[in-house]
Amino acid sequence: MSSPIDLHLHSTASDGTLDPRALVRHAHDCGVRTLALTDHDTTAGVESAAAEATLLGMNFIAGIELSADWRGRCIHVLGLAIDPAAAGLERGVQRLAGERERRAVEIARRLDAAGAPGTESLRRIREQTSLPTRTHFARLLSELGAARSMAEAFDRYLGQGCPAAVRSDWPALAEAVSWILDAGGIAVLAHPLRYKFSAGARRELAREFKTLGGAAAEVVCGGASPAQIEQAASLVLRTGLAGSVGSDFHDPRIPWNRPGRLAKLPVAVQPVWASAAFPVAPAERA
Ligand code: AMP
Ligand code: MN
Ligand code: MN
Ligand code: MN
Repeated sequence: MSSPIDLHLHSTASDGTLDPRALVRHAHDCGVRTLALTDHDTTAGVESAAAEATLLGMNFIAGIELSADWRGRCIHVLGLAIDPAAAGLERGVQRLAGERERRAVEIARRLDAAGAPGTESLRRIREQTSLPTRTHFARLLSELGAARSMAEAFDRYLGQGCPAAVRSDWPALAEAVSWILDAGGIAVLAHPLRYKFSAGARRELAREFKTLGGAAAEVVCGGASPAQIEQAASLVLRTGLAGSVGSDFHDPRIPWNRPGRLAKLPVAVQPVWASAAFPVAPAERA
């Protein structure tokens, strides 16, 4: 179960543990030959990842994973083949950085109030990144002994309904998609089954996403079961979206999200890389 194409990976520019160059080398070692760097709300890692991919003879896709709001829930939208310097996207990314900063300070305050080392976590996070995520908090809370694992940190402190769950003012889905399209990119709905929606609401999300100019949704995600792949395939087939594949790799210590550890896209699904807008030589289109 290995794919030479992986269109969803994270580096230290957001909440991954490998720096962009090391990430590209690791993906190469795992057999990946076409990859997209899709850090949360930033393209800071794209330049060095692209340089490393060129050295290794890989196809590199500049990407991003934008946080967005749909019906009060946080949705993730991948932008593939974007121009990171596009003005609208840059402004959007700045706005998201401000929102993440505001949220991180509030998370730290609430963690302190709950008896967990929030301020200390945030101090250490600042030594690692300028873009704080909940993943950073979860890692620090487990390192500082306030939780036994990152999963427990989410369950006890950071997840929905927990003491340090802070509402975020993410841009509306329509805005996030427009920033990607303005930057010449392809918009892909990330991990559509991960949102807690009814099947009907999920279809409405996919339809609205397509109406806004979205091209695809992820059908094969890291660690997905055959039943989940079938469900996501049926969603894209019903809504006329293409399909994408991505491990959502963050950390080599998490085995089910290894780069390229992905099942094949079901044959009925149109691959997003078959689209003319996708910057890979047609001969390499699988
Ligand atoms: P944020 O964008 O700051 O809200 O952080 C979201 C990130 O947290 C996701 O992209 C995942 O990488 C990570 N995450 C969410 N839930 C969990 C969980 N239960 N265990 C580990 N990581 C998680
Ligand atoms: Mn993440
Ligand atoms: Mn995501
Ligand atoms: Mn991701």
